[in-house]
This record gives sequence, structure tokens and C-alpha cells, in this order.
Amino acid sequence: MAVTATGDYDEGNIFARVLREEIPSKRVYEDEWAVAFHDINPQAPVHVLVIPRGAWRSWADFSAGASDAEIGGFVRAVGVVARELGLEAPGYRLLVNAGLDAGQEVPHLHVHLFGGRGLGAMLV
Ligand code: ADP
Repeated sequence: MAVTATGDYDEGNIFARVLREEIPSKRVYEDEWAVAFHDINPQAPVHVLVIPRGAWRSWADFSAGASDAEIGGFVRAVGVVARELGLEAPGYRLLVNAGLDAGQEVPHLHVHLFGGRGLGAMLV
């Protein structure tokens, strides 16, 4: 079931549990602002999810409510993850699903990072 982009934050959502290390994940990066780990159902040779440590449901509430420091720290972390995975030279794709029409499934903001093969042209 897709989730709405706004609303109360659910502390029991699966990525909140990943952050608290209540369920395992294959982490590739973490810092003050962000944690990155492999998607369990990869759609490309590299498919990593980057999530903020803060309790943000979606890009909607994050972009409206997070501090400039948190937004900056998170966006910078996404770039660091891509660089550390060796994707800067070959290139990569970032994707955020926000809310119902986009089919967001997990109500904790996550940026999909895809790479490791030619990804083709894609607008939607
Ligand atoms: P969609 O599933 O439509 O892409 P999202 O943008 O909400 O919607 O993406 C959720 C992503 O989280 C999916 O790619 C899914 O494979 C991944 N996922 C779900 N549970 C876990 C988990 N425990 N660990 C890693 N990735 C997960």
C-alpha cells in the first residue's frame, strides 16, 4: 500500500527500525545526517537507499520542515555515498517517490541511488 507524503510519522516503519538497528541491513555509509544501505530488492547492479536520521515521512515534510543544516547534510551525504561507491565517473540516477501517485511504500524519506549499468533515458 502506497503511503501519503504528509501525516504523522510512524516510529514503527521499517526504515525507522533499520535506523535503530532492530532489523538488519547491509549498510554502506553513515554519518551524522544519513544512513545508506542496500535495497533488499535491487533494480540495478547498485541499488542503495539513503535515508535521513531524522523522523521525516517524505520529501514533502522534509523539504518543508527540516533545518537548512539537516537538508544540507543529507543532500551532501547522498553525493558522498555515490562517490564512495565509485559511481561518479560512470554516473548514476537518484529517485525519490513522494506520496500516493509516486507509489511510496515506506513512510520514511528515502533516496534511491541506482548505478552499475547504463540506465537509459527516463523521465518518469
Ligand atoms: P517502491 O517500493 O514502489 O519503490 P518506495 O520508494 O517506498 O516504493 O521504495 C521502498 C524500497 O524499499 C523498495 O525498493 C524496497 O525494495 C525497499 N525495502 C523495503 N524493505 C527493505 C528493507 N528491510 N531493507 C532494504 N530495503 C528495503
